[in-house]
Amino acid sequence: MSNPKIWLSSPHMGGSEQKFVNEAFDTNWVAPLGPNVTGFESDLENYLGGTHHVAALSSGTSALHLALILAGVKAGDSVICQSFTFSASANPIVYLGAEPVFVDSEETTWNMCPDTLEEAIKAEIKTGKKPKAIVAVHLYGMPFQADSIRKIADSYEITLIEDSAEALGSSFNGQPCGTFGDIGILSFNGNKIITTSGGGALVSKDKSVKDKAVFLATQARDAAPHYQHSEIGYNYRLSNICAGIGRGQMEVLDKHVANRREMNAFYKELFKPFDFIKVFAEADDRFESNHWLSCITIDPSSGKNREGMRLALEADNIECRPLWKPMHLQPVFENCRNYTTGVSEKLFENGLCLPSGSNLTNEDKDRLKTNLLNYIQY
Ligand SMILES: *Cc1c(COP(=O)(O)O)cnc(C)c1O
Repeated sequence: MSNPKIWLSSPHMGGSEQKFVNEAFDTNWVAPLGPNVTGFESDLENYLGGTHHVAALSSGTSALHLALILAGVKAGDSVICQSFTFSASANPIVYLGAEPVFVDSEETTWNMCPDTLEEAIKAEIKTGKKPKAIVAVHLYGMPFQADSIRKIADSYEITLIEDSAEALGSSFNGQPCGTFGDIGILSFNGNKIITTSGGGALVSKDKSVKDKAVFLATQARDAAPHYQHSEIGYNYRLSNICAGIGRGQMEVLDKHVANRREMNAFYKELFKPFDFIKVFAEADDRFESNHWLSCITIDPSSGKNREGMRLALEADNIECRPLWKPMHLQPVFENCRNYTTGVSEKLFENGLCLPSGSNLTNEDKDRLKTNLLNYIQY
């Protein structure tokens, strides 16, 4: 019989989620609105420091779709997007008939390289078309260089959309991730740091941006007793049931972040004697990552490599995954322009995500340690 599965990142309930869900049933708020939706939004607003407004939506992807619409992106526009990310950062650009232009990462944060970004903007402007927006991502929970990227977006007057799907609980210079963009987005998918089983949110300093997002997310109904529409709407609001799970999860978010950071410390300690393995870490103390996923890179000249490690762990029913395959290498985006430096390609070749859940037990850690040392040493 094989050992129980150790997942990369699995849902982790705190205990009071069911209470909020039961309340929704007891009061018959089984709808895409209700007290849990409002309560979850206000929990998130408080968590983000009370400076921003939050609209709870059905997914991070729908939040990005609305963010692009609110940024005024239209068919034929171009939008700069971090190449090293999950496809959901880029797909909504194409939903709008706009064109993603991919920009490579830097080695320190693994996120959008400010120099390459500026180079791309200049080159795009030279072709006669200024990019309409920038989608920058805090990958694996590591904050991007928020000050430099913000400065570039401002100086070229381009809307900054902050994909913080993986970075709830991270911060840069003490400021929470999710609050750096003109519009930010969060995800509560099953594998994220907190989950509503599926859900997302749009974040903005500007209350009218939130209101417009909620308007579009609820079928764009004009104020009238009948159904009247002057704009194309969407059905993107979060349900009151899912929001109930979210309210329960907010009670344990800090604990989840602490556990994930502890997993990261566990790997740092474990790999310390092996200088061909690097655990992805904050470059300096301005960056604070929630370490949603703990990632490593393995120097293949050591004779060990990420695929060997992945297969060795898979043989003991432990899930690991290569780092994101950059978007400029994806068949579906092969015709898109890109500004690349080789950084993300190399990370994809040599990098691996290790089990990082906030619910991993000491027993799980022992099994991880045995398997990892076994692969490294023999
Ligand atoms: C998960 C994720 C999304 C999409 O969020 P969903 O809630 O799954 O739609 C977008 N961007 C990044 C970087 C993600 O990891």
